[in-house]
Amino acid sequence: MSTGNGSGLGRLGLSSVPLILMYHAVDTVEHDPCMLSVRPDQFAAQLAWLRSRGLRGVAVGTLVAAMHAGRARGLVGITFDDGYASVLRNAVPELLHREFTATVFVISDRVGQVSDWDAGTPWPLLSRSQVGELAAAGMEIGSHSATHAPLAGLDAPRLEAEVKGSRDSLSRLADAEIRGFAYPYGSMDAAARRAVRDAGYDYGCAVRTPWAQLGLMALPRVYVGQQDGAGRMAAKRLLYRADIVVRGQRS
Ligand SMILES: [Zn+2]
Repeated sequence: MSTGNGSGLGRLGLSSVPLILMYHAVDTVEHDPCMLSVRPDQFAAQLAWLRSRGLRGVAVGTLVAAMHAGRARGLVGITFDDGYASVLRNAVPELLHREFTATVFVISDRVGQVSDWDAGTPWPLLSRSQVGELAAAGMEIGSHSATHAPLAGLDAPRLEAEVKGSRDSLSRLADAEIRGFAYPYGSMDAAARRAVRDAGYDYGCAVRTPWAQLGLMALPRVYVGQQDGAGRMAAKRLLYRADIVVRGQRS
């Protein structure tokens, strides 16, 4: 892995950028204006596609450890943002069936509540005991901040509460060290990336990372939705690095 330019933010060369998939809910829903849910049968088909290509879905903590050891080939990160209860019910059995794992990024102050920050019908979020069930099933629990606030532009005390505060409370809840963070809305700036590093996380997941900011504290992810059958999955796998290059030239 090519890292290190003195920034302390774990810079990555383009060829070292791993494929990380970004999901939210896995459920059959009527109203999904933000296209955040994938039906359980389609999710199973997407995992089967990964398997058919010789790829194994793993938690991002596992993927990052493998990158450090030079053994990340064939691994694909699987992530779920927001901590929807449907992930435990519908996604975890499909993952376990294939001996895959995943990272679920939980909003620490919203555990046991509903997702009422977006348009559309609020969906149930994991309860405290369900977070424990996910961890016991071998899934990695990560932080998705304390309140789902966009982090770019926040002052230092609020950044600390969102980034370090959520890590401390989720560590107690999951009874495990929390190693990963996902930026709400993919919103980050240099101060947010530093806050994630300084809070002790091993990595941060963004959405669309500009080329110049590629690193362990800003890992890009590929959105996967209900429309993504085998053909689109193959295209996304082929094109995700090219997408970073195109975006880097625009930014
Ligand atoms: Zn989110």
